[in-house]
Amino acid sequence: MRIELRELRAYPGRPVLTEAREMFDDLMWCDEPLTLVEAVQVKASAFYDEGRLFVTLRVSGKAVRPCSRCLVKAEEAFEREELEEIPLEDPKAPYLELRPWIAAGVRLAVDPRPLCRPDCRGLCADCGADLNMEDHREGCTASVTTPDPRLEKLKDLL
Ligand SMILES: [Zn+2]
Ligand SMILES: [Zn+2]
Repeated sequence: MRIELRELRAYPGRPVLTEAREMFDDLMWCDEPLTLVEAVQVKASAFYDEGRLFVTLRVSGKAVRPCSRCLVKAEEAFEREELEEIPLEDPKAPYLELRPWIAAGVRLAVDPRPLCRPDCRGLCADCGADLNMEDHREGCTASVTTPDPRLEKLKDLL
């Protein structure tokens, strides 16, 4: 998706709205390949002011994410809007390719700790049981012994 810069330069301060859908097949979030259900919906409102380009970029869409507790995959709707100044490497460039900024917006929009459902009980760190589906397995000590302080800390993070 491109923003045409000629018109913006001709009328400083006047915002120009551009809308498009942009598909990504190889987007990464940390080590996780982000599987998009559909093309990202993008709205960009851009204006030029004293040689600087400002863009209000709104991205929204759906991705399939592994639950951060039990690893089951679930669909997540994401949405983010932010005003940012985009530096122009070439001040005379006829257009700006917005794709890298859209990708960055999607990475910031998705949940850093996705859950398959709000009360997901996750996998037992001791016996590996999926606590949504089953009880602790035989011999598991997670539910009987004094809690390991390191595990307690981990629970706070989850
Ligand atoms: Zn889960
Ligand atoms: Zn267990």
